[in-house]
Amino acid sequence: MNDSKYVYLDYAATTPMDPRVIEVYKNNINEYYGNSSSLHSIGQKAAKKLVDSREIVASLINAERSDIFFTSSGTESDNLAIMGVALKNKKRGNHIITSSIEHHAVEKPCEYLEKNGFEVTFLPVDKYGLINTKLLEEAITDNTILISIMFANNEIGTIEPIKEIGTIAKHHNIIFHTDAVQAFGKIPIDVNELNIDLLSASAHKIYGPKGVGMLYIRNRGNREGSGKFIQPLLYGGGHERDLRPSTVNVPGISAFAKAVELAKEEMSNELKRLTTLRDKIINSITNKIDNCFLNGHPTTRLPNNVNMSIQYIEGESMVLDLDFEGIGVSTGSACSSKSLDPSHVLLAIGLKPQDAHGSLRITLGRFTTPQEVDYFLEKFPPIVQRLRKLSPLTKEKS
Ligand SMILES: *Cc1c(COP(=O)(O)O)cnc(C)c1O
Repeated sequence: MNDSKYVYLDYAATTPMDPRVIEVYKNNINEYYGNSSSLHSIGQKAAKKLVDSREIVASLINAERSDIFFTSSGTESDNLAIMGVALKNKKRGNHIITSSIEHHAVEKPCEYLEKNGFEVTFLPVDKYGLINTKLLEEAITDNTILISIMFANNEIGTIEPIKEIGTIAKHHNIIFHTDAVQAFGKIPIDVNELNIDLLSASAHKIYGPKGVGMLYIRNRGNREGSGKFIQPLLYGGGHERDLRPSTVNVPGISAFAKAVELAKEEMSNELKRLTTLRDKIINSITNKIDNCFLNGHPTTRLPNNVNMSIQYIEGESMVLDLDFEGIGVSTGSACSSKSLDPSHVLLAIGLKPQDAHGSLRITLGRFTTPQEVDYFLEKFPPIVQRLRKLSPLTKEKS
């Protein structure tokens, strides 16, 4: 299969880099090789590029430039936010509130803290994957130091009530972190309007390079401010203002900034275009295939996410058969799709394990064309039909 003909529908796992971002990346690897901490002109040139990139990234979420901290990934940003806040505030309290559908990059550090003297509440979600803000407020105690709820879910696409959560957190004077890796660059985010204190994002989910992430920290840039509620996880040099040492990846970060610029320019058009394609897929599958249903919220969901349970067959078989036809999709989340445990997200929204196993995630992006969607919609129903004929599960139901 020629790579350029492959129909890639797994943009939630990662995105190909935009050619315009690659161009910037290639040039900047040559031009900005200096260490941004060096005093000489080559170092200072890199330092200037870093400041400009910070400004661009900040502008997408209406943040102050000095509140943006670059990291190596979304995973690192999540770990830094959760562990950094927990360690810094352990004298104030030891209770953290999160949801039961977080990405592993949030879930696992919370579980680690739970084994090390912290108490963690994993809030349940409803059948759409929405957290209940009333339950959230009831879970708050005098010991609660952090609320971490994802902006939008990577598997089922559901967008959480972030503004309400931010208001509750602010009212109770609790730090609010959101993993916005899937939402950043796809839907509008304003950290001030939403009362977000910490926000994680990642370059490779928005057509930038892999290995570049960022953490927004409210008022951290203001030395007199209140942003001293987090401590570093790594110790070394003074990069990223003592919060995240390690020589800064200026070419990667400048490519991230280019990706942000493009996302900002194209967001409103892409939002409409992808929503139309998304709904076309959902309607077509629902019409052509019986015994299937949509996972996640029908409308309060990411514009590029489709997640369906196709009953009586295995997600893995569908993924492999589609791949044979030159179409790339995913079952569950990419991180767990190699394990045999059903997705914790699908179980949390109340799916039976067998329906969770039959789930398929189709995620669209900038390079998805209507022709690609049609190709997928043509190939998919016969695959389901064939697999169902072979499946012992089909017989069990009757
Ligand atoms: C991809 C993803 C991450 C991890 O980001 P990396 O840059 O791959 O480490 C974290 N959270 C969510 C919601 C994601 O989709």
